[in-house]
Amino acid sequence: MNEFLMIFFDKAGSEEADPNFLLKMDNIALYQDVVVLAIELQEFSLYFQPIVNTLTLAEDFQHYEALIRWEHPIKGMIPPDHFIHIAEKSGAIIPLGYWVIHEVCRCLSQPSVPQNVSVSINLSPVQFKEASLVQSIVKIIKSYGISTNRITIEITETSAMRDHQLTRKVFAAFHAEGFKLSMDDFGTGYSSLSYLLNFNFDIIKIDKSFIANTLVDGEYEIIAKAVVKLAHDLSLIVVCEGIETDDQLQMVSEWKTDFIQGYLISKPRPWSEFY
Ligand code: C2E
Ligand code: CA
Ligand code: CA
Repeated sequence: MNEFLMIFFDKAGSEEADPNFLLKMDNIALYQDVVVLAIELQEFSLYFQPIVNTLTLAEDFQHYEALIRWEHPIKGMIPPDHFIHIAEKSGAIIPLGYWVIHEVCRCLSQPSVPQNVSVSINLSPVQFKEASLVQSIVKIIKSYGISTNRITIEITETSAMRDHQLTRKVFAAFHAEGFKLSMDDFGTGYSSLSYLLNFNFDIIKIDKSFIANTLVDGEYEIIAKAVVKLAHDLSLIVVCEGIETDDQLQMVSEWKTDFIQGYLISKPRPWSEFY
């Protein structure tokens, strides 16, 4: 282990052991080593948040989103917003992304988990650049004996826009293998509604900021209702994220949202708390 890694992983801690120094550009090159080591040390874990049918709010959850956490020995629980972008910048997102796929498969293949349970996985646009991505993911999933139709791939609206052609190509490959595709954080980018047609998504997830804004500014609701109607006309499934209150649930039910996700139903929790 090199000196940098020794400092980073020194459980006794020291001033130099502050993981925030990773944010400095100088350390970006080493970040990949740090992440690979943290994978080996089993510091990452996945939490799962149920996505439930708005009409039934069924308690026998069938679908979940996998959300990564880094349980750092010094820093404690580091949320993904603090490390995913550095992982993308450094290339560490590639090994980390494969770790996520393996971990989801390991969870789904447990004997206590019913066959109709499925999971959404967040993919970074950086992963899309890897030519063998789809085939590599399929190979992993098949090695666990899991069907690809139990996995939904989530990609944010903003990253889908970044390279249209590549996104379309990768999406076609995922679809051909039987995966479902979900446009994440809809409403946060500068999207044209025509992207809904262009990208062949199966699901759109209306972002939590949109939900939060709607209760204070009614004009958002006009847009949201139109988006839900258009999505349904295009046979897309609509998920509303960040549902925290009964009022929000009532509001998105009136929009005829198909599924909801949010603290009102459950916070993200370890798989062992569900199965
Ligand atoms: P996201 O994909 O939009 O995930 C939803 C985020 O909203 C999660 O934050 C979740 O904990 C949070 N959330 C869920 N319900 C509520 C609610 O009712 N209220 C509020 N205020 N928040 C709620 P989290 O887990 O911190 O993840 C943040 C982001 O990190 C994710 O946003 C996703 O973009 C990224 N991420 C997480 N796991 C992965 C991963 O495995 N790979 C990649 N590439 N990105 C990931
Ligand atoms: Ca997501
Ligand atoms: Ca989201």
